[in-house]
Amino acid sequence: MKFKAVLAVLVAGGMAVSAAAQPSGNAAPPPRPAGGAAPRSVLPPPEPIEHITGNVYKIFGGGGNTLVIVQRDGVVLADTKMPGNGQAIIDEVRKITDKPITTIICTHSHPDHTGSTDFIRELYPNVRVVMSEGTKAELAANPQVNPKLLPTETYKDRLTLGEGDDRIELFHTGVGHTGGDTFVVVPAAKLIFMGDVMAWNMAPFLPAGGAMAIAEETEKLVDAVKDMGIQIVVEGHGHVNDWAGLVRLAHFNRALVTAAKAAYDRGDAPGAAVAELKRNPEFAALLDTHIKKGLEYGNTPLARAHMNVNVAFTEFAGEQAGFGIANGAPLPATDKHKGSDPKDTAPPTPEMLAAAVAK
Ligand SMILES: [Zn+2]
Ligand SMILES: [Zn+2]
Repeated sequence: MKFKAVLAVLVAGGMAVSAAAQPSGNAAPPPRPAGGAAPRSVLPPPEPIEHITGNVYKIFGGGGNTLVIVQRDGVVLADTKMPGNGQAIIDEVRKITDKPITTIICTHSHPDHTGSTDFIRELYPNVRVVMSEGTKAELAANPQVNPKLLPTETYKDRLTLGEGDDRIELFHTGVGHTGGDTFVVVPAAKLIFMGDVMAWNMAPFLPAGGAMAIAEETEKLVDAVKDMGIQIVVEGHGHVNDWAGLVRLAHFNRALVTAAKAAYDRGDAPGAAVAELKRNPEFAALLDTHIKKGLEYGNTPLARAHMNVNVAFTEFAGEQAGFGIANGAPLPATDKHKGSDPKDTAPPTPEMLAAAVAK
Protein backbone atom coordinates (compact mmCIF):
# COMPACT_ATOMS: atom_id res chain seq x y z
CA MET A 1 0.00 0.00 0.00
CA LYS A 2 2.66 2.45 1.09
CA PHE A 3 4.88 1.43 -1.80
CA LYS A 4 2.04 1.78 -4.25
CA ALA A 5 1.40 5.30 -2.97
CA VAL A 6 5.07 6.20 -3.27
CA LEU A 7 5.21 4.95 -6.82
CA ALA A 8 1.97 6.71 -7.64
CA VAL A 9 3.57 9.99 -6.65
CA LEU A 10 6.57 9.18 -8.83
CA VAL A 11 4.37 8.21 -11.72
CA ALA A 12 1.86 11.00 -11.36
CA GLY A 13 4.36 13.69 -10.58
CA GLY A 14 7.14 13.27 -13.04
CA MET A 15 6.95 10.22 -15.20
CA ALA A 16 8.37 11.63 -18.38
CA VAL A 17 11.19 13.31 -16.52
CA SER A 18 12.07 10.28 -14.46
CA ALA A 19 12.08 8.17 -17.61
CA ALA A 20 14.83 10.26 -19.04
CA ALA A 21 16.75 10.34 -15.79
CA GLN A 22 16.93 6.58 -15.32
CA PRO A 23 20.47 5.25 -15.16
CA SER A 24 21.58 2.94 -17.93
CA GLY A 25 22.19 -0.76 -17.53
CA ASN A 26 20.01 -3.55 -16.27
CA ALA A 27 20.60 -3.13 -12.57
CA ALA A 28 18.81 0.12 -11.82
CA PRO A 29 17.55 -0.05 -8.24
CA PRO A 30 13.82 0.18 -7.66
CA PRO A 31 12.52 3.45 -6.21
CA ARG A 32 13.43 3.73 -2.54
CA PRO A 33 10.37 4.09 -0.31
CA ALA A 34 10.12 7.21 1.84
CA GLY A 35 11.75 6.67 5.20
CA GLY A 36 14.84 5.00 3.86
CA ALA A 37 13.72 1.38 4.09
CA ALA A 38 15.69 -1.13 2.08
CA PRO A 39 14.94 -0.93 -1.65
CA ARG A 40 12.49 -3.51 -2.88
CA SER A 41 10.62 -4.10 -6.03
CA VAL A 42 7.35 -2.16 -6.10
CA LEU A 43 5.99 -3.65 -9.31
CA PRO A 44 4.94 -7.22 -9.92
CA PRO A 45 7.82 -8.84 -11.85
CA PRO A 46 7.35 -9.90 -15.47
CA GLU A 47 5.13 -12.96 -15.83
CA PRO A 48 5.66 -15.84 -18.27
CA ILE A 49 5.08 -14.84 -21.88
CA GLU A 50 1.44 -15.32 -22.99
CA HIS A 51 0.27 -16.23 -26.48
CA ILE A 52 -2.39 -13.82 -27.79
CA THR A 53 -2.94 -14.85 -31.42
CA GLY A 54 -0.87 -16.07 -34.39
CA ASN A 55 2.67 -14.73 -34.00
CA VAL A 56 1.79 -12.18 -31.31
CA TYR A 57 2.50 -12.56 -27.58
CA LYS A 58 2.59 -10.34 -24.52
CA ILE A 59 4.60 -10.18 -21.31
CA PHE A 60 2.78 -8.71 -18.30
CA GLY A 61 4.45 -7.03 -15.33
CA GLY A 62 7.57 -5.02 -14.51
CA GLY A 63 5.77 -1.97 -15.91
CA GLY A 64 3.53 -1.85 -18.95
CA ASN A 65 2.76 -4.87 -21.11
CA THR A 66 5.44 -5.74 -23.65
CA LEU A 67 3.99 -6.82 -27.00
CA VAL A 68 6.12 -9.45 -28.79
CA ILE A 69 5.67 -9.97 -32.54
CA VAL A 70 7.66 -12.83 -34.07
CA GLN A 71 8.35 -12.02 -37.73
CA ARG A 72 10.11 -13.83 -40.57
CA ASP A 73 13.57 -12.41 -39.80
CA GLY A 74 13.32 -11.31 -36.20
CA VAL A 75 11.31 -10.07 -33.27
CA VAL A 76 9.57 -6.73 -32.81
CA LEU A 77 8.97 -5.53 -29.24
CA ALA A 78 6.52 -2.80 -28.35
CA ASP A 79 7.43 -1.25 -24.97
CA THR A 80 10.24 -2.39 -22.68
CA LYS A 81 8.92 -2.00 -19.12
CA MET A 82 10.74 -0.28 -16.24
CA PRO A 83 14.55 -0.24 -16.15
CA GLY A 84 15.96 -3.54 -14.96
CA ASN A 85 13.61 -5.81 -16.90
CA GLY A 86 15.66 -6.24 -20.09
CA GLN A 87 17.03 -9.67 -19.25
CA ALA A 88 13.60 -10.89 -18.14
CA ILE A 89 12.09 -9.74 -21.45
CA ILE A 90 14.83 -11.52 -23.43
CA ASP A 91 14.45 -14.68 -21.33
CA GLU A 92 10.70 -14.77 -22.03
CA VAL A 93 11.19 -14.17 -25.77
CA ARG A 94 13.74 -17.03 -25.85
CA LYS A 95 11.01 -19.42 -24.69
CA ILE A 96 9.29 -19.00 -28.07
CA THR A 97 12.02 -18.13 -30.59
CA ASP A 98 15.80 -17.79 -31.12
CA LYS A 99 15.36 -14.95 -33.63
CA PRO A 100 17.13 -11.64 -32.90
CA ILE A 101 15.34 -8.51 -31.69
CA THR A 102 15.17 -6.26 -34.76
CA THR A 103 12.83 -3.44 -33.71
CA ILE A 104 11.62 -1.72 -30.55
CA ILE A 105 8.52 0.47 -30.73
CA CYS A 106 7.84 2.81 -27.79
CA THR A 107 4.17 3.73 -27.32
CA HIS A 108 5.08 6.76 -25.16
CA SER A 109 7.79 8.31 -23.02
CA HIS A 110 6.89 6.99 -19.56
CA PRO A 111 9.59 4.91 -17.85
CA ASP A 112 7.37 1.86 -17.39
CA HIS A 113 7.25 1.59 -21.22
CA THR A 114 10.75 2.67 -22.28
CA GLY A 115 12.95 1.71 -19.32
CA SER A 116 14.76 -1.39 -20.63
CA THR A 117 15.34 -0.25 -24.20
CA ASP A 118 18.98 0.52 -23.38
CA PHE A 119 19.69 -3.02 -22.15
CA ILE A 120 18.19 -4.63 -25.25
CA ARG A 121 20.21 -2.25 -27.41
CA GLU A 122 23.42 -3.42 -25.77
CA LEU A 123 22.61 -6.95 -26.93
CA TYR A 124 21.35 -5.91 -30.38
CA PRO A 125 23.25 -2.77 -31.43
CA ASN A 126 21.53 -2.60 -34.82
CA VAL A 127 18.00 -2.63 -33.40
CA ARG A 128 15.62 -0.02 -34.83
CA VAL A 129 14.04 2.11 -32.09
CA VAL A 130 10.88 3.75 -33.39
CA MET A 131 8.67 6.31 -31.68
CA SER A 132 6.68 9.44 -32.48
CA GLU A 133 8.30 12.86 -32.71
CA GLY A 134 6.39 13.86 -29.57
CA THR A 135 7.76 10.94 -27.56
CA LYS A 136 11.31 11.72 -28.65
CA ALA A 137 10.79 15.36 -27.68
CA GLU A 138 9.54 14.40 -24.20
CA LEU A 139 12.50 12.09 -23.59
CA ALA A 140 15.02 14.55 -25.01
CA ALA A 141 13.62 17.41 -22.92
CA ASN A 142 15.62 16.06 -20.01
CA PRO A 143 19.27 17.10 -20.41
CA GLN A 144 20.32 13.95 -18.53
CA VAL A 145 18.47 11.64 -20.87
CA ASN A 146 20.15 8.30 -21.47
CA PRO A 147 20.92 8.48 -25.21
CA LYS A 148 20.22 4.76 -25.54
CA LEU A 149 16.55 5.45 -24.81
CA LEU A 150 16.29 7.80 -27.78
CA PRO A 151 14.99 6.61 -31.16
CA THR A 152 16.82 5.69 -34.33
CA GLU A 153 13.79 6.97 -36.26
CA THR A 154 10.64 8.94 -35.59
CA TYR A 155 7.37 9.63 -37.37
CA LYS A 156 4.75 12.38 -37.25
CA ASP A 157 1.29 10.79 -37.42
CA ARG A 158 1.49 7.61 -39.48
CA LEU A 159 4.22 5.08 -40.29
CA THR A 160 4.28 1.66 -41.99
CA LEU A 161 6.96 -0.83 -40.92
CA GLY A 162 7.58 -3.99 -42.94
CA GLU A 163 5.34 -5.58 -45.54
CA GLY A 164 3.07 -8.55 -46.15
CA ASP A 165 2.36 -10.55 -43.02
CA ASP A 166 5.11 -8.59 -41.24
CA ARG A 167 3.43 -5.21 -41.81
CA ILE A 168 2.92 -3.00 -38.75
CA GLU A 169 1.09 0.33 -38.85
CA LEU A 170 1.79 3.08 -36.31
CA PHE A 171 -0.71 5.85 -35.60
CA HIS A 172 -0.41 9.07 -33.61
CA THR A 173 -3.79 10.77 -33.43
CA GLY A 174 -3.15 13.57 -30.98
CA VAL A 175 -2.11 14.50 -27.47
CA GLY A 176 -3.79 12.47 -24.74
CA HIS A 177 -2.03 10.36 -22.15
CA THR A 178 1.22 12.00 -23.31
CA GLY A 179 2.21 14.30 -26.14
CA GLY A 180 3.43 11.43 -28.29
CA ASP A 181 1.04 8.48 -27.85
CA THR A 182 1.56 5.74 -30.47
CA PHE A 183 -0.95 3.03 -31.35
CA VAL A 184 0.50 -0.14 -32.89
CA VAL A 185 -1.65 -2.08 -35.38
CA VAL A 186 -0.67 -5.59 -36.51
CA PRO A 187 -3.01 -6.04 -39.51
CA ALA A 188 -2.34 -9.75 -40.08
CA ALA A 189 -3.33 -10.45 -36.47
CA LYS A 190 -6.29 -8.01 -36.52
CA LEU A 191 -4.76 -6.54 -33.36
CA ILE A 192 -4.00 -3.13 -31.89
CA PHE A 193 -1.69 -2.30 -28.96
CA MET A 194 -2.90 0.76 -27.10
CA GLY A 195 -0.19 1.94 -24.72
CA ASP A 196 -1.63 3.79 -21.73
CA VAL A 197 -4.46 5.42 -23.64
CA MET A 198 -6.19 2.17 -22.67
CA ALA A 199 -4.93 0.41 -19.55
CA TRP A 200 -6.77 -1.80 -17.06
CA ASN A 201 -10.04 -1.19 -18.91
CA MET A 202 -10.59 2.19 -17.33
CA ALA A 203 -10.54 5.78 -18.48
CA PRO A 204 -6.99 6.93 -19.26
CA PHE A 205 -4.74 8.75 -16.82
CA LEU A 206 -4.34 12.30 -18.12
CA PRO A 207 -1.07 13.88 -17.01
CA ALA A 208 -0.55 15.58 -20.38
CA GLY A 209 -3.41 16.24 -22.74
CA GLY A 210 -6.53 16.69 -20.68
CA ALA A 211 -10.06 15.35 -20.91
CA MET A 212 -11.05 17.18 -24.10
CA ALA A 213 -7.86 16.08 -25.87
CA ILE A 214 -8.23 12.40 -24.95
CA ALA A 215 -11.82 12.39 -26.24
CA GLU A 216 -10.60 13.74 -29.58
CA GLU A 217 -7.58 11.43 -29.69
CA THR A 218 -9.58 8.24 -29.12
CA GLU A 219 -12.32 9.27 -31.57
CA LYS A 220 -9.71 9.98 -34.24
CA LEU A 221 -8.07 6.62 -33.58
CA VAL A 222 -11.32 4.68 -33.92
CA ASP A 223 -12.05 6.58 -37.14
CA ALA A 224 -8.54 5.90 -38.53
CA VAL A 225 -8.55 2.13 -37.91
CA LYS A 226 -12.24 1.22 -38.10
CA ASP A 227 -11.93 -0.45 -41.52
CA MET A 228 -8.93 -2.61 -40.56
CA GLY A 229 -11.01 -5.44 -39.09
CA ILE A 230 -9.41 -5.17 -35.67
CA GLN A 231 -10.74 -7.71 -33.19
CA ILE A 232 -8.09 -7.85 -30.45
CA VAL A 233 -7.21 -4.78 -28.37
CA VAL A 234 -4.15 -5.20 -26.13
CA GLU A 235 -4.12 -2.62 -23.36
CA GLY A 236 -0.96 -0.91 -22.11
CA HIS A 237 -1.33 -2.63 -18.74
CA GLY A 238 -3.34 -5.66 -17.79
CA HIS A 239 -6.05 -6.63 -20.18
CA VAL A 240 -6.54 -8.00 -23.62
CA ASN A 241 -9.79 -6.34 -24.66
CA ASP A 242 -11.76 -6.36 -27.92
CA TRP A 243 -12.92 -3.91 -30.57
CA ALA A 244 -16.19 -3.23 -28.78
CA GLY A 245 -14.17 -2.36 -25.66
CA LEU A 246 -12.13 0.24 -27.57
CA VAL A 247 -15.22 1.79 -29.13
CA ARG A 248 -16.83 1.89 -25.66
CA LEU A 249 -13.80 3.72 -24.26
CA ALA A 250 -13.98 6.32 -27.04
CA HIS A 251 -17.69 6.82 -26.32
CA PHE A 252 -16.92 7.12 -22.62
CA ASN A 253 -14.17 9.70 -23.05
CA ARG A 254 -16.56 11.88 -25.09
CA ALA A 255 -19.53 11.32 -22.77
CA LEU A 256 -17.36 12.26 -19.79
CA VAL A 257 -16.49 15.64 -21.30
CA THR A 258 -20.11 16.27 -22.28
CA ALA A 259 -21.43 15.39 -18.81
CA ALA A 260 -18.65 17.36 -17.12
CA LYS A 261 -19.43 20.47 -19.18
CA ALA A 262 -23.12 20.27 -18.36
CA ALA A 263 -22.40 19.86 -14.64
CA TYR A 264 -19.83 22.67 -14.70
CA ASP A 265 -22.24 25.04 -16.44
CA ARG A 266 -24.96 24.22 -13.88
CA GLY A 267 -22.54 24.90 -11.04
CA ASP A 268 -22.76 21.29 -9.89
CA ALA A 269 -19.91 19.28 -8.35
CA PRO A 270 -17.93 16.78 -10.46
CA GLY A 271 -19.82 13.93 -8.82
CA ALA A 272 -22.96 15.02 -10.67
CA ALA A 273 -21.24 14.31 -13.98
CA VAL A 274 -20.15 10.86 -12.79
CA ALA A 275 -23.73 10.15 -11.67
CA GLU A 276 -24.88 11.04 -15.18
CA LEU A 277 -22.36 8.59 -16.71
CA LYS A 278 -23.61 5.86 -14.38
CA ARG A 279 -27.03 6.06 -16.00
CA ASN A 280 -25.60 4.54 -19.21
CA PRO A 281 -25.31 0.74 -18.78
CA GLU A 282 -22.71 0.65 -21.59
CA PHE A 283 -20.25 2.30 -19.19
CA ALA A 284 -20.61 -0.08 -16.23
CA ALA A 285 -17.12 -1.63 -16.57
CA LEU A 286 -15.53 1.82 -16.81
CA LEU A 287 -17.16 2.84 -13.52
CA ASP A 288 -16.40 -0.35 -11.60
CA THR A 289 -15.60 -0.03 -7.89
CA HIS A 290 -13.06 -2.86 -7.60
CA ILE A 291 -9.26 -2.76 -7.71
CA LYS A 292 -7.85 -4.82 -10.59
CA LYS A 293 -5.61 -7.68 -9.56
CA GLY A 294 -2.00 -6.82 -10.44
CA LEU A 295 -2.67 -3.08 -10.74
CA GLU A 296 0.71 -1.38 -10.35
CA TYR A 297 -0.53 2.05 -9.24
CA GLY A 298 -3.71 4.01 -9.33
CA ASN A 299 -7.16 3.25 -8.14
CA THR A 300 -10.56 1.91 -9.20
CA PRO A 301 -12.13 2.70 -12.57
CA LEU A 302 -14.73 4.82 -10.72
CA ALA A 303 -12.01 6.89 -9.03
CA ARG A 304 -10.33 7.42 -12.41
CA ALA A 305 -13.62 8.68 -13.87
CA HIS A 306 -13.85 11.19 -11.01
CA MET A 307 -10.26 12.25 -11.66
CA ASN A 308 -10.93 12.84 -15.32
CA VAL A 309 -14.07 14.89 -14.61
CA ASN A 310 -11.94 17.01 -12.28
CA VAL A 311 -9.39 17.42 -15.07
CA ALA A 312 -12.22 18.55 -17.37
CA PHE A 313 -13.37 21.08 -14.76
CA THR A 314 -9.89 22.59 -14.57
CA GLU A 315 -9.88 22.89 -18.35
CA PHE A 316 -13.27 24.63 -18.41
CA ALA A 317 -12.00 27.02 -15.72
CA GLY A 318 -8.84 27.71 -17.74
CA GLU A 319 -6.66 26.25 -15.01
CA GLN A 320 -3.83 23.76 -14.96
CA ALA A 321 -4.64 20.36 -13.46
CA GLY A 322 -2.20 19.34 -10.73
CA PHE A 323 -1.38 15.72 -9.96
CA GLY A 324 0.28 15.98 -6.57
CA ILE A 325 -1.96 13.72 -4.55
CA ALA A 326 -0.67 10.23 -3.83
CA ASN A 327 -3.24 8.39 -5.91
CA GLY A 328 -2.85 10.75 -8.83
CA ALA A 329 -6.13 12.59 -8.26
CA PRO A 330 -6.02 16.09 -9.67
CA LEU A 331 -6.09 18.94 -7.20
CA PRO A 332 -9.39 20.75 -6.62
CA ALA A 333 -10.31 22.84 -9.60
CA THR A 334 -11.71 26.23 -8.74
CA ASP A 335 -13.10 28.04 -5.72
CA LYS A 336 -16.54 27.37 -7.09
CA HIS A 337 -15.94 23.71 -7.84
CA LYS A 338 -14.10 22.07 -5.01
CA GLY A 339 -13.60 18.78 -6.75
CA SER A 340 -15.04 15.36 -6.08
CA ASP A 341 -15.88 14.16 -2.61
CA PRO A 342 -12.53 12.88 -1.28
CA LYS A 343 -14.04 9.49 -0.54
CA ASP A 344 -14.61 9.00 -4.27
CA THR A 345 -10.92 9.39 -5.11
CA ALA A 346 -9.34 8.10 -1.88
CA PRO A 347 -6.44 5.67 -2.30
CA PRO A 348 -7.50 2.01 -2.20
CA THR A 349 -7.70 0.47 1.24
CA PRO A 350 -5.86 -2.74 2.19
CA GLU A 351 -9.26 -4.45 2.13
CA MET A 352 -9.84 -3.30 -1.46
CA LEU A 353 -6.40 -4.52 -2.48
CA ALA A 354 -7.00 -7.87 -0.78
CA ALA A 355 -10.30 -8.20 -2.67
CA ALA A 356 -8.76 -7.30 -6.04
CA VAL A 357 -10.50 -8.80 -9.08
CA ALA A 358 -8.79 -10.63 -11.92
CA LYS A 359 -6.87 -8.60 -14.46
ZN1 LIG B 1 2.15 2.73 -18.09
ZN1 LIG C 1 2.03 6.05 -19.33
